[in-house]
Parts: sequence; structure tokens; C-alpha cells
Amino acid sequence: MDDSVLYDALARYWGYREFRPLQRAAIEANLNGRDSVVVLPTGGGKSLCFQMPALVRPAGGLGLVVSPLVSLMKDQVDGLVASGVAAAALNSSLTPDERRAVYADLDAGRCRLLYVTPERLVGEGGDAFRARLHTWGVRFMAVDEAHCISQWGHEFRPEFRRLGRLRDDFPELAIHAFTATATRQVRDDIVTQLALRDPAVLVGSFDRPNLVYRVRARTGLKDQIRRVLDQHPGEAGIIYCISRREVESVASWLDELGHRALPYHAGLPDEMRRRNQEAFLEERADVMVATVAFGMGIDRSNIRYVIHAGAPRSLEHYQQESGRAGRDGLEAECVLLYSGADFAKWRQMLEQSGELSENARRLLRDMERYAAGTRCRHRVLVEYFGQTYERAACDACDWCLKELQRVDDPLTVAQKILSTVVRIGQSWGVGHVIDVLRGRVTDQITTRRHQELSTFGLLADVPITELRGYLDQLTEQQLLLRTDGPYPVLQLTDDGVAALKGLATIELYRQPRPAPGGRARRVPGDPAAWDGVDRGLFEALRQCRTEVAQARGVPPYVVFHDNTLRDLARRRPTTTAELLDVYGIGARKAEDLGPIILEVIRDYHGEQDLAEPDEADG
Ligand code: ADP
Repeated sequence: MDDSVLYDALARYWGYREFRPLQRAAIEANLNGRDSVVVLPTGGGKSLCFQMPALVRPAGGLGLVVSPLVSLMKDQVDGLVASGVAAAALNSSLTPDERRAVYADLDAGRCRLLYVTPERLVGEGGDAFRARLHTWGVRFMAVDEAHCISQWGHEFRPEFRRLGRLRDDFPELAIHAFTATATRQVRDDIVTQLALRDPAVLVGSFDRPNLVYRVRARTGLKDQIRRVLDQHPGEAGIIYCISRREVESVASWLDELGHRALPYHAGLPDEMRRRNQEAFLEERADVMVATVAFGMGIDRSNIRYVIHAGAPRSLEHYQQESGRAGRDGLEAECVLLYSGADFAKWRQMLEQSGELSENARRLLRDMERYAAGTRCRHRVLVEYFGQTYERAACDACDWCLKELQRVDDPLTVAQKILSTVVRIGQSWGVGHVIDVLRGRVTDQITTRRHQELSTFGLLADVPITELRGYLDQLTEQQLLLRTDGPYPVLQLTDDGVAALKGLATIELYRQPRPAPGGRARRVPGDPAAWDGVDRGLFEALRQCRTEVAQARGVPPYVVFHDNTLRDLARRRPTTTAELLDVYGIGARKAEDLGPIILEVIRDYHGEQDLAEPDEADG
């Protein structure tokens, strides 16, 4: 297809000028009728890959999108309709009248994109529905969140398995699978389960350069949370907690502090969960305090921070959850607050639920390694997902921003730790080693007479979390080894033995101890994102967006993304033609919302002029 057709559609319906990596390739596969698996990170722009082909196909027809979540579906359809695309969804949330209207549109061939749940398609009554699809002239099928089909993924949904039959029912149609889950196993499983034929496999880079990653030992949860929130006044964020109890306590504490915070976990009544999620998506709440139950379908694009109050059970989970920040491509911060005890807690929980497989242990160890790691976080994440990280430094993690402090004379510190481990017979866990080094007198210590060791109390002046950090780093650097099993003990590796003899170069780092009341550094990130933006005007536009969204019953980001507001507040357009140059404003939006936007800009300038009379007049 002629390039200009694609670029015209991109500008007209989306208001964008360039394709993101792999979008073109994915669209081409679709237009050529070739099956595909498209793996792009959250925010990578997957939806456009299946939306655009439905619009530009010369022969018209219908694109079918299978999506597991009704809320996500609704947002996408609202967004498309707002941009002038004939899209609809069929799901359980429709009233009979609404459903009839959708069917009428489909029968009359007025619809280009149809979103359905897997249940509708292959569940009860699915046979009749699939028969109608044939009459509506379906041209392709896109399966969103396709990792749900794989039991290797972390969001396996059994009903997805039945999608396998689509191939038999629609042998002539190409099927396109989309996911943000990067592992090979999941990808292969998708291909097998959906019976894809020689699919184009398009795997994007997993790096999220706009996310700033930080890891901190959990020293005082509330204080640490407050510090992050102070950096993001009025901005949206998610705080993930491991337990429901913690969710409740953090949410009510934030509420008392005057934040617009709400709880979300599987123990809350459905109705309340739904209400809280809606409030967050509609920007009536800023902070969502949640367990992992809060997740899929979080389409709010301007989430500026994600805090983990405890370590998740795998890096897959971490990437998925932290990845909900900054979907709009603007800078956002991901802070992991962890303690070594989190991992023991996970092992125990998984053991109880019968899920503590060898694989689960490995995933936990990888997570632990990330937390204790002293390398570029972007690099570690990208490499974990099997890709190479090309840049020398990311400038967007605690490591590359040099926030970790190098310990003086690390070899001596390491030797004190390693020799303690040897002296207690390499048969004790982290807690006991720390007790010996800090000189605590516990029953276990006196029973074993460990207070008589020459290393007893040798690191008494080092705070406990810091000491734990050193143990983690020595484990990560493979000088120490932590055995598996219910009571993991620390042992020396060959490298550890060499270090003990002074035959190794070691580096140890400690996390910054923020001065009381001192502010952490402002989140760096892409400074250009705020370059030239008039913040006052941005706020005025944001207010206008909220009002439009409320009047139309859609979430604000369906009206405009934050980057569109920033670009508006940067360019300050005064004509419709100028509006079309703004990021994210296509012809339809310019026509629809242009007058309101231009008025806000005019009013804002009017007020400014009144507030700041010309000097000559003064
Ligand atoms: P994903 O489903 O992969 O998480 P989305 O499809 O929601 O990502 O897209 C993320 C954001 O990027 C959306 O705001 C979308 O409008 C925007 N986007 C998509 N493609 C482009 C593009 N070519 N140029 C600029 N922004 C884009």
C-alpha cells in the first residue's frame, strides 16, 4: 500500500506524524493477510497496529478485536469514536437498546472495528455469533493481551484457550496476536495455541527509556512513600502492596494526609472495586493503593509513578506492574522498596499455595538479584528479557544517576562478612549472620557461643538494612551463595574464598540516606517534555479536559493525552490550522474540540495580559 495512505490516516485520525518502531511492519503483515505475533512493551502502541488496517483497507470490511477486559475495550472504542472512527464493542455492559444499535450498524456495514470478549466469541452462544461474523465481512482478527492464552504467562485465563478454534472456523482469515509479555515460552505458546501459520514475529525493544527506576531498602515505608509523593504533587500514581491489610492502612493514611487515594484489592466488594477503579481512571483520584489484583486494563496513560511497597514475585511481574507508569511516553518514576524478608515471605506463601516450583524459586531469585543489583536497571531488565542493551548508561536509574554511594575499603567490609560466614560453619541464614556482625546477643548466639567469635560485633555501627544490602550484593556478585530450601543458609563460593584471601576486587554500595526533611532529587527524565510548556496554561487545559470528559462520560485520557496538553501549552495555537500541528490532534478532534481549546487558550492569555500590564503602561 502507498505510504501516503498510512501517513494520512495517522495524521487524520490520531494526530501523529511518525510511526513507532514496528508499527509499520505490524500493519503491513495485517494488510498482506499474514498471521503475526507482535510483542511490544506497554505503551509501545500496539492498538494502532490493529486499528489502522481496519481503516485503510481499500475493500472496507470489519476488523475484529478480541480483548479480555470490558473497561479497556470501552476506553479504546470511546477513543476511536472521538477520533471519528466507526468502532463498537459487544460485551455484557451494554443495555439491550445499545446492543441492538450495534447489531444494526454491523448489519448495515457501518462498522469498521468490533471489539468482543473471548466469552462472546467462543463461549456459550458463540456458534451463532461466529456465524454472523461471516455475514459482516470480517477481514482479520486481532487478539489483544494474547499472553492470557499461555499458562506460562502470569495472567493465564482458561477461557482464552478456546480461541484456538477460530482457526478452524475462519481458515481464510489472518490472526494477529498482541502482547507485552516478552518471554520466548509465552510467545511460542501463543503461536501454538492460536494455531498461527508462519506468523511474522515482531518483537520490539523492551526498554522503557522514559521510566526512571530506583530500588531502595525499605527502612520506613510511610516516610519513603511520602518522599516519592512529594515529588509528584497532584500527579497520578499506583502503590503496590503485598497484603490487603497493608493496602488498607496505606490508603487510609494517605487519605488522612489529604491525598486523593483509594484502596483496591480482591477482598473488597466488587461494586467498591469498580467504583475505585473508575474514580482513578476518571482522574477523581490520584493514588491507587493496591495489590496485584489491580492491573490489567489500566489504561490511564499519565501515571507518573509506581511504587512497590514490597518486592513482587518475579521480574515479569515487576516489569508489567511498573510498566503501567508513563504509557504516554513522558517521564515517570518506578520505585521498588524492598526487604530481604519479602522473598522469604513469598517462598512461604507460594509453598502454602503449592506453587513453589523450581521455576517459581528461580523467578524469585532473579527478582532478588535485581533488587540487590548494582548495575544499570534498564540494562538488567532488557537483558533479562533476552535482548541486548545498546547504551552505555541509561541516565534514568539510581545506578546510572550515581545515587548509590560507594563504600570505602569494600574488601575489608566483605572480608568481615565472609569470615563470619566461615566461622559459623556456613550453616546459618542471613538473619543470624547479621546478628553476629552487629553483636546482638540472642539465644541462638549464646547457645552456640557465637559471641566469642573474633568477628562478633565487628560491624556494629552499620545499620541493619545496609548490612543486609552488602550480603545481597555479595550474593549477587557470587561470592556468597544462598542455598535453597525452607531454611536457606549462606555459604562461600570459590570466588568468596579468594576474596577472603584478598585475591579479589570488590565494590560495595550503600543506598543514600536522605537527610531528615531533605528532598530527594527531582526525577530527571526527558527535560524536553516540559520545555517551553506554560504550566499555568497546561493546568487550565487540564481543567477543561476534565469538564469535557465528565460531560461525555469518558475518562480524561480519552479526550486528550497529557502530551497533547503539554504540546498545546507549548505551541499555544490560535487557529484551527495551528491546532493540527499539535501532537495527538487529528482532523476530527480539531473540528470537535478545537473551538473549546482555542477559547481556553484565548481566555488564558486574556487573563495573563490583565495580570501583567505592559511596562510602558505601568
Ligand atoms: P500499548 O497497547 O502497546 O500499551 P497503546 O496502544 O495504548 O500502547 O499506545 C500507547 C500510547 O502511545 C497511546 O497514547 C497512543 O495513542 C500512543 N501512540 C501510539 N502510536 C503512536 C505514534 N505512532 N506516535 C505517537 N504516539 C503514539
